[in-house]
Amino acid sequence: MTIRDNLQTIGERIRAAEQRFGRVSGSVRLLAVSKKHPAAAIREALAGGHTLFGESYAQELAEKAAELVGNGIEWHFIGPIQSNKTHLIATTARWVHSLDRLKVAQRLSGQKPADAPDINVCLQVNISAEASKSGVLPNALPELAAQVMGLPGLKLRGLMAIPAPGGDFDHQRAAFAQVRALQENLVAQGFALDTLSMGMTDDMEAAIAEGATLVRIGTAIFGQRE
Ligand SMILES: *Cc1c(COP(=O)(O)O)cnc(C)c1O
Repeated sequence: MTIRDNLQTIGERIRAAEQRFGRVSGSVRLLAVSKKHPAAAIREALAGGHTLFGESYAQELAEKAAELVGNGIEWHFIGPIQSNKTHLIATTARWVHSLDRLKVAQRLSGQKPADAPDINVCLQVNISAEASKSGVLPNALPELAAQVMGLPGLKLRGLMAIPAPGGDFDHQRAAFAQVRALQENLVAQGFALDTLSMGMTDDMEAAIAEGATLVRIGTAIFGQRE
């Protein structure tokens, strides 16, 4: 199977899940997670018409963005953010999914080039505190959301989550339902959010069942990472 075949297959799986779970056709976007795969792999996906790519390491993002400039790629940053690397992200990424603290938000806001559009951001929420260090805890979400709303250059779009891996479909679905409830709670408080970034290779269908608007898929497109 080539990368282009894999993209086709994943696209079909997404459409099937939309239909199965009563989602509007075309309401789930596919982010191809290219971290630790070479620019050549991205070129192959580009040749198949795919332009949304996700990276988890700031330096790797900056290098690939420079190498692949002019291809119309929409870069999404999805990894843990070190505050001394924010300029690499602010100058290349159209989306940041992994925002979880004010200091990083302030730096991204200040470092976004004046002529670039606002950076779309999702707050990463930590729904399994024992399993992960990344992400803001649910009870701290409203305050961080309000702070991010007040920063120029950033556009708050929604939430991102990475539930603990494993578990069967119902277990996965219950975790994503928590994220969805947190999003609905913020919307009820007046935040205009339209993005739920959730679902990876092993839990994509459960995420779509619970309202994901963007799934982040690496392995099923590019194969195993080193
Ligand atoms: C690596 C990564 C993915 C892709 O995971 P796969 O299991 O390879 O599909 C998705 N989201 C985040 C945040 C990642 O770091």
